[in-house]
Amino acid sequence: MMKREIYKVENDKLIRQRRFCPKCGPGVFLAEHEDRYTCGKCGYTEFKKKEKSPEKKQKQ
Ligand SMILES: [Zn+2]
Repeated sequence: MMKREIYKVENDKLIRQRRFCPKCGPGVFLAEHEDRYTCGKCGYTEFKKKEKSPEKKQKQ
């Protein structure tokens, strides 16, 4: 039971791991938004890759 809980927490950490700002370096986290990460320090923005919907919107 204990091992499972610990493993679960570690796994959760990995998934939730925040991204560092490539400009400011380690220590400065990027704020996570729905579709992007932003740095509140330098304004760096990194968009998330969308892999949920492979379908492309068709223009009519
Ligand atoms: Zn930054």
